[in-house]
This record gives sequence, C-alpha cells and structure tokens, in this order.
Amino acid sequence: MAFTLYTLIQTAILCTNAVAVLHEERFLSKIGWGVDQGVGGFGDDPGVKAQVLNLIRSVRTVMRVDIEGQNEAGAAPDICRGTATNAHTHTEISVIQRLQPLPIIKQVSSMAGRRALKAVLIDLSGTLHIEDTAVPGAQEALNRLRQASVAVKFVTNTTKESKRNLLERLQRLNFDLQEKEIFTSLSAARSLLEQKQHRPLLLVEDSALEDFTGIDTTEPNAVVIGLAPDHFNYQTLNKAFRMILDGAPLIAIHKARYYKRKDGLALGPGPFVTGLEYATDCKATVVGKPEKTFFTQALSDLGCSPNEAVMIGDDARDDVGGAQNTGMLGILVRTGKYREGDENKINPPPHLTCDSFPDAVEHILKNLL
Ligand SMILES: [Mg+2]
Repeated sequence: MAFTLYTLIQTAILCTNAVAVLHEERFLSKIGWGVDQGVGGFGDDPGVKAQVLNLIRSVRTVMRVDIEGQNEAGAAPDICRGTATNAHTHTEISVIQRLQPLPIIKQVSSMAGRRALKAVLIDLSGTLHIEDTAVPGAQEALNRLRQASVAVKFVTNTTKESKRNLLERLQRLNFDLQEKEIFTSLSAARSLLEQKQHRPLLLVEDSALEDFTGIDTTEPNAVVIGLAPDHFNYQTLNKAFRMILDGAPLIAIHKARYYKRKDGLALGPGPFVTGLEYATDCKATVVGKPEKTFFTQALSDLGCSPNEAVMIGDDARDDVGGAQNTGMLGILVRTGKYREGDENKINPPPHLTCDSFPDAVEHILKNLL
C-alpha cells in the first residue's frame, strides 16, 4: 500500500515537472520574463528576477535527478546533461538525456540563454597552488585549457605579493603564464588611487609595495589596507584609525575573512578592515573580489562580457558568488580554503562544485565550449 502511494506521488511529480518544462518558455514570455525580454539568460541579470528563475530551474533540475536516480533502483543519479544547465532549447531539454556521468560532484545552476564561452578567469592561491606547492595536475590542466579557443586570465586578491613576485612563484611551479595575464586587487587599488588622486598610507606587505611605485605617499590623506601581518600592530592601526576619524577614506584591497597557508587557515585582511570600520563608524571602499568592478575590469581587455565568461576559485563568496553576481558562471573547487558546505553559503549556488582545478577544466572543455 505504502509502495503504491509512493509510486503515485512520484508519477504526479514527474507529470507536473513535464508540464512545467513544456510550458515554461511560453509562460515566462507571457509574464514578460522570457529570454528575449530582458532577462537574457540566467546570470546576466543579478537581480531578483534572475535569481527567482534560477531557483525555479534549479529545483526542477534536482527533481529530475532525484526521479532518474530512483528509477535506477537505488543507483546513484547521473548528472543529466541537456537539462537546464546548457543553452539548448527547452523542447530539447525536456527530453531527459542519460549521458555518461561527468567527473563532477554537483551541478545545479542554469546557463540557458548564455552566449558562447570566451574567457576563463582563474584564481591563484588555493586554486592553482598553495604557497609553493602546485595543486596536483593543475599545470597540465592549464595547458589543456590554453589549447581551446578561450582567453585565460588570472585574478587574485593577493595583497602580500607584487605581480612580479606572483609570476616568479608560478613560473617556478611550472605554470605557463605571462605577467600581463595577471590582474590583482593591488592593480585595482592602484587604479582607484590614481583616479581619485589620493596619497595613501599603505598597509600592505613590503613585497607588494613595488606595485605602487610612482604613487605619492607623502602626507597621506587615505588609508589603503591589505593583508600586512608585519604591519598589523597597535601603533600602525591606531594611526590609520586617527586618519579615518579626520576624514581620510578607507580603501580595502579586499575583505577576505581568512586564507589557506601551509600550516592551516590564517586571518585575512577582512577582520582588520572591519575593526577599523567599527571603530570609526565608516564603510570601506573594497576594490578586490567579490566587487563587481573588479571582475568587469579584469574582463575589459579581453573583449567579452560577463555572460561569456566563467570564474574558477576556492572561495565561495569572493570568487564564485562575486563572479555570479556580475553575470558570470562560477565554479567552486574543493582545494585551498574550501570547507565542507561552502557551496551552500551563496545563493544562487555555484554553477558547479568539483574537487579541483583539473576537474573544472575538464567540465569547461566538455560542456561549455
Ligand atoms: Mg583563492
């Protein structure tokens, strides 16, 4: 009896789902939410409308996967390619295709209506390497990605190292990249200082100072704060505090809560920025990830828009959440600072959560190009 009831409920869900799929586009067009009516694909519009649509399709995708998995008498459900996660028509996606399982863990968000992929933004620390150790297979995966017709850029929230230091470190680890392909939060901070003609008190590590060469720091009238373990003492922070009280703007290179080191997780600049905000009752201007302007600046010289790009990173909020709020797809890797359940900290969830950078590249090559 219980089995019959369960089967009936299952059949009803399947029928409802099928009707929803067949009529979805017509219904959305009718209420003015169609793909050709301004939404332009999920991820293009970070507003409420796109998020609601994402939610609808994510729920439906999960329903399909569950139903398919149960039909296999308890076998683990395959990831269904050709559902709401690709750019095919809805008539096509209403036919549930059982393809070979992909080497991915979770894929729930939608990319219907997106344009062809033109660029891949890649985080560095925690994604390609952890200090002086490369993520296994990352160099080969990067080489495979470079053979595809897609632009690559490396985007990092580093505040401890200049671009040149970063490049040397990565080249020592046998990564194939050039300095012009690296866009850092230090670059974004420098742009803002030049634009506003501020003279900064620079709370960054000495190794990062060369990225501010030529910037006037005499009689500072702005506070720029990054991760500066050697300068985070009472005297220096108190100097910054007094300047801000006297009206100097507070510019945060980024506000990461923590990051991954060889010896474990470590405090990022976020807690120190927040401390100054709290003490002075002001709000910092943040220039690094997850700010929208950071991602659009990084893409600007690649000649592509956010809905033609994907971001790979180990930080759910700053890498993936920030990129998706800008209109990109986001892939979260389970290396570096990743902790179990991080994918649940952002809404919409990551386009994909996978074990490491090589898995992310495999997914892009198989599904997004
Ligand atoms: Mg990272």
